[in-house]
Amino acid sequence: MNKKKKQILFALLPCFILIIAGLVLLNINDLERTNSTAIKTTSPVTKTAGEEEKTVETPEEMPEEMPEETPEETPEEMPEETPKLETIEQTDSDLGETPSVITRQNSIKEESEPEETVVPEAKEKRFLVVIDPGHQVKANLDQEPVGPGATETKYKVTGGTTGIKTGVPEYELNLKAAFLLKAELERRGIQVILTRDSNEVDISNRERAEIANTHKADLFVRLHADGSENPDTKGFSILIPSSENPYTKPIVDRSSQAADEVMALARTQLAINEPGIFPRNDMSGFNWSKVPVILPEIGFMTNPEEDVMLSSEEYLLKVMKVLAEGITNYKDQ
Ligand SMILES: [Zn+2]
Repeated sequence: MNKKKKQILFALLPCFILIIAGLVLLNINDLERTNSTAIKTTSPVTKTAGEEEKTVETPEEMPEEMPEETPEETPEEMPEETPKLETIEQTDSDLGETPSVITRQNSIKEESEPEETVVPEAKEKRFLVVIDPGHQVKANLDQEPVGPGATETKYKVTGGTTGIKTGVPEYELNLKAAFLLKAELERRGIQVILTRDSNEVDISNRERAEIANTHKADLFVRLHADGSENPDTKGFSILIPSSENPYTKPIVDRSSQAADEVMALARTQLAINEPGIFPRNDMSGFNWSKVPVILPEIGFMTNPEEDVMLSSEEYLLKVMKVLAEGITNYKDQ
């Protein structure tokens, strides 16, 4: 008897399942219908201009999905990503030394918009200045080619001049000036790399230019102070690569633009030597450079008056602010 009951139950089981399934389906349909009508009434409000075209052709069910995705995702993801990029940039410019992250970000950008490798256009995200504080404690009088492939050679790096009154060596003044210029540029949102942050180094002029090349600097600034046998000679001037030089032809225009921007400010704010900008084709630090380059001679250390002025941090800062402002104008061109 029990067996028979079980058999009947088994036979009825599929019927039960079908009935339950049918009820569930009916419920879901009801729910969906109410949902879609509710959404339909609100959807025109949330729709953006671009989506409106779609609604003309879409069947009834489409609006269900559209409004759900668009309003939720856009506000959530957008703000999260933007601050992330900013923090990376900030820490990088603070350190001044670790451009790896930034470089990677930009290299993606660079690939998509082809640029000339020799003279990079000013980039929105990253404008990089490599500052080379001229000279070092010990001159290196070994020879190196004056330019790529040249047979003519020059000293790797000379000793520079010395303050006639203060006795300060040029390499020391140049480094002090470089730190001030770096801070001024960074304050203006420009990324800075120094070729040296100590006087106890041995880096040739060619190697200094190659540091700027490696980092694809938007501008290479070689900071120097002048010396002359005539103690009366004084003033601020800028050396740039000459257009008659085959090595530097590709960088002459941008280099002289940068020099013009700085000189325009220097003329009104500093004492300068007329004409102020001097093209030179005999400098290996220019010839090896593949990026625009200027060499500001920030004053004559062999002139007693200027030597003392340059030793004051206040005046040195004034000169560096002129440089930073001029470089910023060049960047914004
Ligand atoms: Zn020098």
